[in-house]
Amino acid sequence: MGLKIDHETCVLCLLCIEECPYDALSDAGDGISVGTACTLCGACVDVCPVDAISIPAEGLQRAGAGGSHRGVWVYGEHHRGRLHPVVFELIGKGAKLAEALDCPLEVFAAGHELERMPGQLAGLPVSAVYLAEHPGLAEHADDAHSAVLARLIADRRPEIVLAGATSQGRSLIPRVAVLCRTGLTADCTGLEIDAETGNLLQTRPAFGGNVMATIVTASRRPQIATVRPKVMTPLKRKGETTPQVHRWCPPAELTASRVEVLGRQQAAEGSVNIAEADVLVAGGSGVGGPQGFELLRKLASALGGEVAASRAAVDAGWIPYERQVGQTGKTVHPDLYVAVGISGAVQHRAGMQSSGTIVAVNSDPAAPIFEIADYGIVGDYREVLPPLIERLGQLKAEEEREGE
Ligand SMILES: Cc1cc2nc3c(=O)[nH]c(=O)nc-3n(C[C@H](O)[C@H](O)[C@H](O)COP(=O)(O)OP(=O)(O)OC[C@H]3O[C@@H](n4cnc5c(N)ncnc54)[C@H](O)[C@@H]3O)c2cc1C
Ligand code: SF4
Ligand code: SF4
Repeated sequence: MGLKIDHETCVLCLLCIEECPYDALSDAGDGISVGTACTLCGACVDVCPVDAISIPAEGLQRAGAGGSHRGVWVYGEHHRGRLHPVVFELIGKGAKLAEALDCPLEVFAAGHELERMPGQLAGLPVSAVYLAEHPGLAEHADDAHSAVLARLIADRRPEIVLAGATSQGRSLIPRVAVLCRTGLTADCTGLEIDAETGNLLQTRPAFGGNVMATIVTASRRPQIATVRPKVMTPLKRKGETTPQVHRWCPPAELTASRVEVLGRQQAAEGSVNIAEADVLVAGGSGVGGPQGFELLRKLASALGGEVAASRAAVDAGWIPYERQVGQTGKTVHPDLYVAVGISGAVQHRAGMQSSGTIVAVNSDPAAPIFEIADYGIVGDYREVLPPLIERLGQLKAEEEREGE
């Protein structure tokens, strides 16, 4: 069931016709009529001064139950056609959501010359990929890309849209949500389907990580959620099947942008993305100063990993911000996370608690970090780390000798 107009209450002010982004309403002479272009975005409901328009709850139910939106879509964030790793993590979660809803999982993206993209999805349970391609979309610009993606969403009507909470996702996806007149839940750490209503249950930390809030977009479609990189787990590929490709060349009025790219600058040498590291050795204020990080660097190097830090260490100027883990830093999901001289405040834990194995080194046996650690070592890190580094060095030397 779709949009409902109470003709008795309607005063024919025509505001709804003006407001509808999809030209779905018209004045047929005998009252406002609703065309097939209606996406149930709800914009007209909000603007009607006499509450004459409503969307019956069942209108938002899934296609199988008589609703108009179907499918789980993952935003194919890419750099010149190469998909960002978060896309594969979202496909992992999206596949589970699509299974629970018995609907297809699809990827959508905008850009120019994206022919390499479908091949990157081989062996994954993605049934189709929707590509908006235009030379005007070659450089990423939020205004043009959001207009194009919102039109794609309005035309194909997915029920759920997932995107990475990356720098690009954080600035692009809220614009898409506004254009689609729907809700967005940012930085989700959990996504499930409510078995009763079919709604997406979007869980994210709130109030500085002290509570987990579950948010529902009950009266708008699609339901849009962003997820930080490394929170979800990618799927293993099976076979070589590639998705069906749907190409669309958007009209010039959508691809026009106010942004002009004047140049590009490479990240400074030595800069690192800790969100992509498999092993992290993180230091906190307990390491006592920048010199304390030298020992951590040795351990990280022996383990083949990178050095990270708590906010206290970053705020003290001991290590650059790009290495901060936590609520106001990066969310990381390495196989191994070694927390050295870090107390384990909720804001720090919010960024690392989904790590594979957590090892904590702390002189205080009551430090909260031990609550989430798989292995805890109580002691002064200056005494604990040197024998560890030495032993790792011996093991490496043994391995090399065996390999000769
Ligand atoms: C809005 C907001 C956002 C925040 N965002 C973040 C964030 O993104 N990331 C983040 O990390 N924090 C964040 N914080 C700060 C957070 O609340 C904590 O203050 C911070 O994480 C503490 O850092 P720490 O564990 O290094 O220091 P401390 O809490 O001071 O802990 C130091 C630890 O080192 C141990 N120690 C001391 N000496 C030694 C030794 N020789 N050997 C071994 N252990 C030793 C101590 O027992 C102690 O447990 C945020 C706070 C707020 C309010
Ligand atoms: S719900 Fe949205 S698309 Fe449908 S008629 Fe109203 S404004 Fe137009
Ligand atoms: S906004 Fe409401 S009152 Fe005005 S024409 Fe549309 S339905 Fe009628």
